[in-house]
Amino acid sequence: MNKVWLITGASSGFGRAIAEAAVADGDVVVGAARRPEALDDLVAAHPGQVEALRLDVTDPAAIDAAVQGVVARHGRMDVLVNNAGRTHVGAFEETADAELRDLFDLHVFGPAALVRAVLPHMRERRSGAVVQMSSMGGQMSFAGFSAYSGTKFALEGMSEALADEVREYGVKVLIVEPGAFRTSLFDGASASPESEAYAGSVGVTRRMIAEGAGKQPGDPAKAAALILAALDAEVTPLRL
Ligand code: NDP
Repeated sequence: MNKVWLITGASSGFGRAIAEAAVADGDVVVGAARRPEALDDLVAAHPGQVEALRLDVTDPAAIDAAVQGVVARHGRMDVLVNNAGRTHVGAFEETADAELRDLFDLHVFGPAALVRAVLPHMRERRSGAVVQMSSMGGQMSFAGFSAYSGTKFALEGMSEALADEVREYGVKVLIVEPGAFRTSLFDGASASPESEAYAGSVGVTRRMIAEGAGKQPGDPAKAAALILAALDAEVTPLRL
């Protein structure tokens, strides 16, 4: 039977690529984002198979309703992909609490709320999968990425525990750790002000991003194919 997917951050990059790969497999995809209109072409090309949903994953009040809506309209949910994300560059000392909290809302609290919303359904059906889009930055960190990596380390720690807890219910958890890929992740990066104090270490990271943004080697479409294969093969973590 074909699967029903809920993919957050499906309006670009990895989310969009995973949506396209799942649709090509004949699956039903609900693509969620703050800009669902970016999926209009995919919806039009696959009527009834693709749905675009407006969802800000940092809005906890919207999450239960979104999940229940998907199950009500499509009968079930087989795969949740916690993919929505953004990045931030700045020295630890100069990263404001508001920035840190916002990244934790996006990469940790949003995914946690989505997992809590889907699990009763998946546990009852004794089937389902959760894909957690972490990062190479969820395994290692470097100057300028304390906030981003802090959230991804947290996501990974929680996800490893989750995998152990839900295995007996037939629910899989796939942690994905991409390296550098061509998406709009760095175009939308926020940054703390550049300071003399950290011009050396963080400056290197800023220059790397300035020079490499949009020119990353990895192809999200190839990554999406590997993610679908890893789900079937139960390989985790998946390092891309
Ligand atoms: P993109 O910028 O291309 O995509 C990010 C997506 O997240 C967009 O669709 C955006 O949609 C969505 N998004 C951002 N904020 C929210 C929000 N509050 N609620 C819902 N959706 C949101 O970047 P990538 O595809 O590269 O990023 C996807 C994931 O991959 C991220 O978790 C990122 O950390 C991870 N990753 C990426 C790497 C890379 O090199 N590209 C490397 C390692 C990890 P919209 O604006 O419409 O809401």
